[in-house]
Amino acid sequence: MKLQQSFLPDGRVQTTIHFVHPVGEADSESVTGSRVRWAMACTPNLIQLHASRGRPVPYVRSDDPRAVTCPACQETEVFKQAAGRQEPAARRV
Ligand SMILES: [Zn+2]
Repeated sequence: MKLQQSFLPDGRVQTTIHFVHPVGEADSESVTGSRVRWAMACTPNLIQLHASRGRPVPYVRSDDPRAVTCPACQETEVFKQAAGRQEPAARRV
């Protein structure tokens, strides 16, 4: 898998991590047995992102808004809602 990366203003390289969110049930099981259908916030038409045998998902992604670095994902309403819901890490202990 080739990582999507971008340069930060200070010259560091950042891996692009997209925001994914559940949108119902998938047609098939993932390699982990999950049947959740995931959609990518910045590319709504790209759904059912789970890996299947012999077909890894070529995107780095997270359902935790705190991990997301994709600027396009961060602009979406679904991301903003999820980020607003997120409690500070210290309070979750
Ligand atoms: Zn994205």
